[in-house]
Amino acid sequence: MQSFPLLLEWSTDPVMYHGFLSVMDRELEIWIELPYTANRRTETDNNIKSKSTTGQLRLFTANVGVIFGTDELQKILEGHEAQLQKKMDEASNMEEFLAELVDTLEAILSSKKTNAEQQRSLSYWTHVIKQLDALGWERVTNLNKDLSQAQIELSDASGRKHLLTVDFPPGYPAVPFNLKPLEIPEHDIQRLSQTLTSKSLSLNQENGLLAAVECAEKQLRDFTDFWDVMQDIDDKTWVVDPEKPTKADCMRRCVLGNHCTIQIVIDPTSPRSMPETRLIGPASSIESMRTKLYKNVSLWDKMKLPRENLEALLELPNGFPTPVTASKEEINIECGICYSFRYEGQIPDQLCSNIKCQQPFHRACLYDWLRNLTTTRQSFNTLFGVCPYCNETITTTAPRA
Ligand SMILES: [Zn+2]
Ligand SMILES: [Zn+2]
Repeated sequence: MQSFPLLLEWSTDPVMYHGFLSVMDRELEIWIELPYTANRRTETDNNIKSKSTTGQLRLFTANVGVIFGTDELQKILEGHEAQLQKKMDEASNMEEFLAELVDTLEAILSSKKTNAEQQRSLSYWTHVIKQLDALGWERVTNLNKDLSQAQIELSDASGRKHLLTVDFPPGYPAVPFNLKPLEIPEHDIQRLSQTLTSKSLSLNQENGLLAAVECAEKQLRDFTDFWDVMQDIDDKTWVVDPEKPTKADCMRRCVLGNHCTIQIVIDPTSPRSMPETRLIGPASSIESMRTKLYKNVSLWDKMKLPRENLEALLELPNGFPTPVTASKEEINIECGICYSFRYEGQIPDQLCSNIKCQQPFHRACLYDWLRNLTTTRQSFNTLFGVCPYCNETITTTAPRA
């Protein structure tokens, strides 16, 4: 019985084994009695008879032995008993027969599994197809082989493309399909996903997906002007933050020149209103720009794009610098120590106060630089040293950990 490690010798007189047959991740309990000697067979027969009255599966052949199975085994083998008895009659010993039994169990269990899967996938398949039929296949841009995920392309009023992802869980249609929220400004995501969820609950309707998509399209229309405004900023300025704006981002930080940038936060519900702005750069340059901004605020024209309005208010006759019109050296907004703009999520916000220098640095870069110089003095967490560019005094505080 070496090929069946889960079977242990239970008794020696008669020789009985008890244990499990391992078939397709299942452990099936079994009792086995081996033929001891010819003259004991009658005794064994009696034993068998008593066991068989319990309704358990029983297979018996004189030279192989007896098998008692549990209800579980019996249930699986239902209808196959005669076939197995025949195999047992042909087998020369118990081990040979057990190998046959395992093969038979595997065949039965795997065919049962396939049936269940086919049944599920047939209903699944039919329902997913119905949803996509109702939606219109021309709108489906991508569909997984197993139909578990589809991508639907939507357009806003300006023809901008948006992707809606729909997941059909394995239990669909008993479990509702799931829509991934669109990339839209933060404050509205919740409202939209709530609407979409309530729509997707009408999953028994053949047009449940269509209804959800139509609802998403309606919501997209509300943001068209917002995206027009953001796209104009992206096209006509030099955006340094965010690195890769998404359709949900309302903020842009744009290069102004003279070491300055302006942070603009557009209100998605009123994209043409004067946005929240913040000027970042050397105090002297910022001061003059802030003065212009306030002086000209009455010029704001809601018919124009915010980018155009800001150019008018800030008195930028050539408009915002763009990567085409200005060079990296000119705008000089990168850190003078690590030569990059973004460092561990930080942007260079420490500026040399020497008007002729105004070199920006990351706080962390400047702090490390000054700390390693023997000439630097420290008072609490503030360092007093010299600017690596102009040698004038520069101070900085420890960056937050
Ligand atoms: Zn740096
Ligand atoms: Zn300096």
